[in-house]
Amino acid sequence: MKTQVNFIGTGWAIPTPSRSATSILISDKELIKNNILFDCGGDVAKGFTHNDISLDSIDSVFISHGHTDHISGIPGLLHSMHLYGRDKDLYIYSLESVISKISSIIEAFDFDISFDVFLNEIEGSGNIDTFNVEYTEVDHQTPALAFRFSEITFSGDTAPCSDLYDIGFKSELIIHEATLPPNEESKAHRLGHSTPLDALDTAHETNSRNLAIIHTNPEYDIDRFVKHTTFELGSLFAPKDYDTINFG
Ligand SMILES: [Zn+2]
Ligand SMILES: [Zn+2]
Repeated sequence: MKTQVNFIGTGWAIPTPSRSATSILISDKELIKNNILFDCGGDVAKGFTHNDISLDSIDSVFISHGHTDHISGIPGLLHSMHLYGRDKDLYIYSLESVISKISSIIEAFDFDISFDVFLNEIEGSGNIDTFNVEYTEVDHQTPALAFRFSEITFSGDTAPCSDLYDIGFKSELIIHEATLPPNEESKAHRLGHSTPLDALDTAHETNSRNLAIIHTNPEYDIDRFVKHTTFELGSLFAPKDYDTINFG
């Protein structure tokens, strides 16, 4: 097993019993800096404990954008890491406006942290060589990023866009938001979001092997959509919190 995805949080801003706000851990066993967290919504430390993952193991956190459901877990996670006795440096990457928000959150909580947190601004598109993470700006209501690590692409919140198609090209897995239900594409795109049909289109556009749909409105039955949809490229699924999948 080379790459493992832990779906720590798979929902949008309003939690359900099986899905709370977005947070995905990807681990690549062949790399030294190998545990990357994409977004930090909800009770992230609980997810780590549930899946028996050490709070020491995260090397870096990449935040897609500054909406609350993608950053609300940061103070709790840092505090849990501190109490756990972590002394390993933690690196957080995002857009300038998000980094400034995170900096204010850390300041407002005014807590002891037993390790160093390095906040790093990124913009446009590029690659963070230290962590082998690619990023690109995508099309949301506020500046937002999509990421790729270890052949896995994470869309963040976005309408379908060519930058997402580029970064996601031939992914082993695309983890894609679908905030609005099928047939509400024009409204979704106006709001900088996608539907499950958009997620399917992106998987086809990028010729990716597997598709995980997350960040859905709980009023829409995404499990039913997945059950009744054919995805001929590979597997289509709507993960619940704490689900794990292995590749390679
Ligand atoms: Zn969101
Ligand atoms: Zn958002």
